[in-house]
Amino acid sequence: MSLRFFVVTIFPDFFECFKNFGIVNKAIKLGKVQIQTINLRDFTEDKHRTVDDVVYGGGPGMLLKPEPIFKAYDYIKTVSKNPYVIITEPWGRKFDQNFAKELSQKEDIVIICGRYEGVDERVKTIVDEEVSIGDFILSGGEPAATVIMDSTIRLLPDVLSEKESLTVDSFSDGLLGYPNYTRPPEFRGMKVPEVLMSGNHKLIALWRRFQQLKKTYEKRPDLLEKANLSVEDKKMLNYIYKGKDFEAYLKGEKID
Ligand code: SAH
Repeated sequence: MSLRFFVVTIFPDFFECFKNFGIVNKAIKLGKVQIQTINLRDFTEDKHRTVDDVVYGGGPGMLLKPEPIFKAYDYIKTVSKNPYVIITEPWGRKFDQNFAKELSQKEDIVIICGRYEGVDERVKTIVDEEVSIGDFILSGGEPAATVIMDSTIRLLPDVLSEKESLTVDSFSDGLLGYPNYTRPPEFRGMKVPEVLMSGNHKLIALWRRFQQLKKTYEKRPDLLEKANLSVEDKKMLNYIYKGKDFEAYLKGEKID
């Protein structure tokens, strides 16, 4: 079973580069995902291949017309029975890791990319979900579509070679990831924490968990409220709240 994306856009070339690199390219080659761009202009009828028009009621800018989008959708329905349709919108459901997980379990996904001032409201009748990648305004839905596809594709089974890299990613268990180091052991006076070179895997796992909790507390405390924390996690957090380091936790230093 592979996931298929149908991306409805006025700039299909935008996605060529995206398809040619890294994990996304690998997933395509492995047959885990297909990304088909649907050029909106192919579904216009006039000789100028017009996709936009002025806004009723006045105001600046243009809107994507409904007809080409509905025709593109009709075409997709001839090759996909039950596609899940999303449209990029700044007021949509905020995209996050859970949303990516949901999408990675679908079969066919249509992404309609808005442009100009957006799309005619009637397009919403064929849309299952409006999706935003954050509280800022892009000039079009295409960058958002690549963000959505990239984070979804890397969750597909067997796409990442080291299976564990999924489980150690930030957000995978509701916490941020721990800090990592590679060689050399000392660089410009900055040393790799000794515990990581100790070969003591149990100790390393404890250190990493402590750092995960510390980073999440410092950078995204809101995530701690929803995270599934063990008794040991809570014990570590008590040290972290008091500004104590890993050594103090390890020694079981008294804290009140
Ligand atoms: N006039 C609109 C903004 C249009 S921006 C407004 O006032 O909100 C043009 C297009 O870019 C949008 O139709 C949408 O498809 C896309 N876009 C802009 N910001 C986005 C965001 N944060 N997330 C997802 N898509 C976005």
